[in-house]
Amino acid sequence: MEHIKLKKSGVEDSNADTVVNINLDRALCRIAHIHKGIVEVLRYPKRAVTVTFPIEMDDSSVQVFKGYRVLHNNTLGPGKGGIRFHVDVDLDEVSSLATLMTWKCALIGVPFGGAKGGVICDPKELSHHELRRITRRFISELGENIGPYIDIPSPDLYTNEQTMSWVFDTYDVMHSGNNNRAVVTGKPVSLGGSVGRREATGRGVCYAARHFITKHMVPGLSSLDGARVAIQGFGNVGAVVAEQMHCMGAKIIALSDSQGGIIDNEGLDLAEVSAYKHEHGSLIGLPGTMSATNDALLEIDCDVLVPAALSRQIGAHNAQDVKAKLVVEAANAPVTPEGDRILASKGIQVLPDILANAGGVTVSYFEWLQNLENQQWELDEVNEKLLKKMNKAVDASVERLKQLTTEESEHSRDDFAYPLDLRTAGLAIALDKLVAVTEQRGIWP
Ligand code: GLU
Repeated sequence: MEHIKLKKSGVEDSNADTVVNINLDRALCRIAHIHKGIVEVLRYPKRAVTVTFPIEMDDSSVQVFKGYRVLHNNTLGPGKGGIRFHVDVDLDEVSSLATLMTWKCALIGVPFGGAKGGVICDPKELSHHELRRITRRFISELGENIGPYIDIPSPDLYTNEQTMSWVFDTYDVMHSGNNNRAVVTGKPVSLGGSVGRREATGRGVCYAARHFITKHMVPGLSSLDGARVAIQGFGNVGAVVAEQMHCMGAKIIALSDSQGGIIDNEGLDLAEVSAYKHEHGSLIGLPGTMSATNDALLEIDCDVLVPAALSRQIGAHNAQDVKAKLVVEAANAPVTPEGDRILASKGIQVLPDILANAGGVTVSYFEWLQNLENQQWELDEVNEKLLKKMNKAVDASVERLKQLTTEESEHSRDDFAYPLDLRTAGLAIALDKLVAVTEQRGIWP
């Protein structure tokens, strides 16, 4: 099995595609019985669409934008996954994120395959009207590659309810006369969105972390109540995690946004933080707090560290300096395989993205169901169903981890390049399900 390469500078080759394949191999080498030929199918996206389109900007200039939509797999159901607007969007990363969605949907138990999309742009530099034109044109360029039973987008990095409203409206104009609401999730409630969807990813992160901690697998941490938490990212996910963990009794001692972080060892006042961020556009400078870089925030002394921003934040370069007892991946792929290896050697547990942040796609599934039936569920019902799904997936992952650990010790195997962890256990569950259903359906023709 390939060990991740360290470049001469000591910097890890954490190319998104490499990371996905390494993680896949980590699981495969531990589940001997699996049909290797079928797994090969899962290494590649089923379909990757690239579109390039012009947009008339507010100053009447014309700019060309590039976007992607990748459907990784649709064995379990239509593709599902977000659309991100970011300067760093590239096809490799979108494909890798689509693959993660396949694992996530299979593990959490929603009848979707994996997909992801993105447009290369800097949303912070674009006006509301420019964003609208980009969204509409992107969706119209994707044409029949999306649909309620084909591939269903949702919000992701720097896209939100407004973006999803434009996605819906564009598709609806292109397919008039149908109930098109289920073509996209993460819509405003007034447009068929589910109550609780906006908070679902963050809420799911907290449910998963709280339940996992009760398993006594995190040395020195038996409850979220009283735990000292640091969160990287104060966007839709990070802000909800902060609020929910606070409600569960945790002390939020550090937070950051793209410009840097703030620390208060006595616990941040979240209402003050939000008001300050709203007024100044940044967290930095909140009276009574110390400032820190985003890198320094990852290394602070805390019980729970929640990377809730970008990918590849914890790896060969800094994992040795992480001091948390538990890392909860609210973002997608914030810890690299080398990061996993180092954290495991330090006895730090990682609750992986495909489990920890699956609450978003879970409530997206609830939204899709409500849309197909023109229903509107109550918040209690949504949260109760979300809690059940998260706890069940945590239980299953922990059980699978125990089973794999027993097998490993029975066969006296210790020659693996990477340690056995929850990421591998979760992926093993997803792979078993995907391979079994592929075999049931049969390979065409
Ligand atoms: N973008 C989110 C994710 O990465 C949500 C996907 C969805 O709701 O379809 O899980």
